[in-house]
Amino acid sequence: MTEQQTQSTGRVGQVKEITSLSNPVIKDIRALSMKKHRDETRTFLAEGLKLVIDALDLGWAIRTLIYAKGQRGKPQVEKIAALTVARGGLVLEVSDKVLTAITRRDNPQAVIAVFEQRVSTLETIALKPDATWVALDRVRDPGNLGTVIRTADAAGAAGVILIGDTVDPFSTEAVRATMGSIFAVPLVRASEAAFIAWAQKAGSLVVGSHLKGSVDYRTIDYGQRPVVLLMGNEQAGLTDALAGACGKLARIPQSGRADSLNLAIATGVMLYEARRHVLALGEAAP
Ligand code: SAM
Repeated sequence: MTEQQTQSTGRVGQVKEITSLSNPVIKDIRALSMKKHRDETRTFLAEGLKLVIDALDLGWAIRTLIYAKGQRGKPQVEKIAALTVARGGLVLEVSDKVLTAITRRDNPQAVIAVFEQRVSTLETIALKPDATWVALDRVRDPGNLGTVIRTADAAGAAGVILIGDTVDPFSTEAVRATMGSIFAVPLVRASEAAFIAWAQKAGSLVVGSHLKGSVDYRTIDYGQRPVVLLMGNEQAGLTDALAGACGKLARIPQSGRADSLNLAIATGVMLYEARRHVLALGEAAP
């Protein structure tokens, strides 16, 4: 990093000012658009001041905070900059050109950040009696995955289990679609075999959402024990092995010409039914 590319602003300790796209730190952050680089560094990019504040509040480990020069001096930005430095992260004040290049957007968010990824294993799950987990079989579409994570958050699901070879939940598109819920919803990764073995031992009711399900999803008693809602792949649905591991195979009635519902929509319908006995409008609800 040359003197010209990086200068200390002399404000919150280690704040660096960067205007050059050839700066190696910026090159590294831009490389987070590639899965290979996200996997190697086990980090990802999140965009937006509110998201970054929420993530820091929830204790997510921040590596780098990046904000547009025009944000300098704004109290919330100064606060998260100080917090980032206190937690050992790097703070970068950059030009609009740099922000546009990192986010690949014409109108980028003025505050973005690099966080460490968090994904757990099935062994870490402590199933509570009223918990509802969502499990996704080989989900392919980042928009669907992000929307499912957002919906799981809204419906009070305990977390999302990613089965088999899935799209990366930390891709920019998936993270954007979560609208911040990526920081609120625990993610678990498992192979199909490991999931089936766990499901058989866990003492939960596994409800597979299936186009050939024999049960109307509204007739299931979801209140007796922990529930795992198992949703199929966008093209192929559930594998036979996963369908065979379900205590019930549920169907959402359809009329009209559509073959099936979109995965994220079907998850929303199933999840709200499964959570109906615990969800209520609170006093503070809008
Ligand atoms: N051609 C696929 C199939 O045969 O399952 C369609 C998959 S659909 C786009 C994605 C997933 O959403 C399904 O695997 C299922 O879990 C859920 N789904 C969609 N429509 C559904 C319905 N009417 N009843 C139950 N589940 C549904």
